[in-house]
Amino acid sequence: MSYQAIGNKLAAGGTVILDGAIGTEILRRNVTWADHQLASRPEFVRGIHEDYIRAGADVISTNSFQLCRRALYNHFRDEVHRRQIGSTDLDDRANELLAASVRLAIEARAHAAAGRPVAVAAAITTLEWCFRPDLAPSPEQAKREYREIFQVVKDAGADLVLLETLNSISEARAALEVAKSLGLPCWTSFVCDERGRLFTGETMAEMVAALEPLGVDAILLNCAPPGDINAGMKELLPHARVATGAYPHIGRFDPPEWMFTDEYPPARYLQVASSWKQMGARILGGCCGTTPEHIAALADLRERPAQA
Ligand SMILES: [Zn+2]
Repeated sequence: MSYQAIGNKLAAGGTVILDGAIGTEILRRNVTWADHQLASRPEFVRGIHEDYIRAGADVISTNSFQLCRRALYNHFRDEVHRRQIGSTDLDDRANELLAASVRLAIEARAHAAAGRPVAVAAAITTLEWCFRPDLAPSPEQAKREYREIFQVVKDAGADLVLLETLNSISEARAALEVAKSLGLPCWTSFVCDERGRLFTGETMAEMVAALEPLGVDAILLNCAPPGDINAGMKELLPHARVATGAYPHIGRFDPPEWMFTDEYPPARYLQVASSWKQMGARILGGCCGTTPEHIAALADLRERPAQA
C-alpha cells in the first residue's frame, strides 16, 4: 500500500507534495482535452504524470476530472434521446476511462518514481458541475453513484481517493462515507470563495465538524485563486485536527478550457505555498494552470522545517 508511507509522513508532521494540474497541462502542451486523451494518447498523459513525479510529487492525481456516467448522460434530454442519437458505448465509457486513468498513473510511478514512495490518488470531483452546489443530487443518489465510481478506482489500484473541488458539506459527507466504507483513504478538498467559505456559504468550522468524525484523512482547499485559498486557509486551520493542505489554481477559467497568465511564476507560487506551510498546512500542490515547474519549486518545502 503506497498510502501508508504518505499517511505516516503526515502523522509525523511531515510535508507532502501533491502534483499540479493535468487537464490544463494537456492543453498547455497544445493537445485538446477531449476524452481526457486516456484512450487516444495514453503515453502523453503518462508522460505528464512522470514529469510531476520527477518534479518531486509524493502524490499524483489521476486525469479523471468529471469522468462519470452522469457527466456523459447530461448531454441528452433523457434516456430515449441518448439511445436514439448517442454513441453506443456511453454506458461503459466513463468507468473504462476512469480505470485507465488509474492504470496510467500506476505505470508512470513504475517508470519514474525510482523507489521513492509515490501514492496514486483517484481524483474525483462533484457529480454535477463543481462550481454549482445548487445542482447537486440528493445524498442517497450521490452515494449510489460514488459507490460505483470508487469501486472502479479501488479495483484499478488507486491508493487513495482525492475528492476535489467539492462545494458542499452534504455531497462531501456522502462521498466520504462511501470511500471509507470501501476501505479507501480519503482526502477531501473544497473550492472556497473570497471570504474563505464553501460555495454554499457554509463555514470551514461547520465542514470540519461534519467530516472529521467520519474519518477523513486530510482536508484541503483547491481550484480557487491564491488569495481566496489564503482566506480559506485562515478559516480552516484553527479548526482542523487532521492534516490540511492547499492547491490553488493560477490563471483564469475560459470555459471550457483555461487561460494561462504569468501572474504566478514558480518562485512566486513557492512564496504563497510557503506561507501556508508556515500557517500549518502539510500538503501542497497545484490546480488548474500549474505546471511541473511549479511543483519542482514546491519540492523545496518538503525538507524545510515547518517553523523556520
Ligand atoms: Zn482547478
